[in-house]
Amino acid sequence: MQLSRRQFMKVTGSTLAGSSLALMGFSPATALAEVRQFKLASTTVTRQTCTYCSVGCGILMYSLGTGGKNAKSSVIHVEGDPDHPVNRGTLCPKGAGLLDYINSPNRLLYPEYRAPGSNEWQRLSWDEALDRIAKLLKADRDANFQATTPEGLKVNRWLTTGMLAASASSNEAGYITHKVARSWGLLAFDNQARV
Ligand code: SF4
Repeated sequence: MQLSRRQFMKVTGSTLAGSSLALMGFSPATALAEVRQFKLASTTVTRQTCTYCSVGCGILMYSLGTGGKNAKSSVIHVEGDPDHPVNRGTLCPKGAGLLDYINSPNRLLYPEYRAPGSNEWQRLSWDEALDRIAKLLKADRDANFQATTPEGLKVNRWLTTGMLAASASSNEAGYITHKVARSWGLLAFDNQARV
């Protein structure tokens, strides 16, 4: 779709909306180049994978304040990675809205625990959370692992715990995660993309 810069601003109504459309691939080359040049000067670019779904689109994240002492580091712009073989620079609407997801005040940034019967969430350190998860996993597996069926058939299964992994993991991380889950005897193993 080719538009003049004036037509582009008229259609989109605002620079903000325009940049969102640009992320989805609907902008004229000139306007896109101007928006990029203005916004991305002095930023640090980091390659990443969109975490929303199993497509695994490559993204470029532009951040400010990563090298200095005077600014709080923050991601200010996200766009599709043109060199990524999956999406070739494009993003779907969910991927185009990643910046809001990153900067959302509701984004969970650390582990939280809600005790049984309580309506209060309490913050935990990652070490505390991982220790707690490991202890609960072991206790449940020790109590419920089935080596054989009542008829004596070997099954080596653990049916009382499940694992939800991430579909945006690399092949290597996915392979290792799968091996760990299956070596425990877990049968309930899935991720948000059902792959
Ligand atoms: S940009 Fe859209 S299609 Fe690509 S991984 Fe993210 S959610 Fe999935």
